[in-house]
Amino acid sequence: MSGGALTGPALAAELDRLAAAPRLLVALDFDGTLAPLVDDPAAARALPAAREALLGLHALPGTSVALVSGRALASLAEVGEAPDDLPLIGSHGLEVRMSATDALPPLDAADADRVLALRSRLEPLVAQVEGAWIEAKPAGLAVHSRLVTDAEAARLLDAAVRASAAELDPALTVRAGKGVVEFAVRDATKGDGLRILIDRLAPDAVLFAGDDVTDEDGFAVLGPHDLGVKVGDGPTAARARVADPAAMAALLTHVLDARRRLSGDTR
Ligand SMILES: [Mg+2]
Repeated sequence: MSGGALTGPALAAELDRLAAAPRLLVALDFDGTLAPLVDDPAAARALPAAREALLGLHALPGTSVALVSGRALASLAEVGEAPDDLPLIGSHGLEVRMSATDALPPLDAADADRVLALRSRLEPLVAQVEGAWIEAKPAGLAVHSRLVTDAEAARLLDAAVRASAAELDPALTVRAGKGVVEFAVRDATKGDGLRILIDRLAPDAVLFAGDDVTDEDGFAVLGPHDLGVKVGDGPTAARARVADPAAMAALLTHVLDARRRLSGDTR
């Protein structure tokens, strides 16, 4: 079957099968999946129908709902308006919280030491340049030079890259952007984040939905009893496809209604 081929009545039957799983994990990307894409990322909110369905599922026994996003965890918690006991995966799998009081450390001790060594190497370089600053990241740090003259910024970023990548820690991932260079000691994907959720929650079936290329890493870890749902156009490894966040909200409502019926809950 080609990617995303499951739609219509065949999809509805598959959702009913999923809804009957003793333990069900519903893991959802946020932007473009629950929330329509908007220009201001801070203004993004889940469609009311999507939010109602996911809170309904979250309240059912044997049912876990999680958000899995590329956003930083704090930003995801804010726009997702997530209850404290809802698991969140941020920064494409680098940041994991099982609840508001149970966040997993993003790095082991060795990697945390690498970040410290990197910081002490870069701090003197950055301190010499007015307007430049260091931002802590889940698995490393970023050197910002937006407020620095072009020539000085180029010199600083060049020196930072040389000092860190070439001399200190050649295994660092270095990503250059506009007026910023990011250094990371570890990479992760949404697939890594989804695997952590599956290990912790041990579901019998997983429903995972996403709209973007990075969600393909999530679809890739699903098993034969799970269901991937691609939101929108584009090639995908997901078995099912819906058109947009409104259709995704309808899908979640279908799963909620089916699961309530099966549990004898007739609200
Ligand atoms: Mg998305």
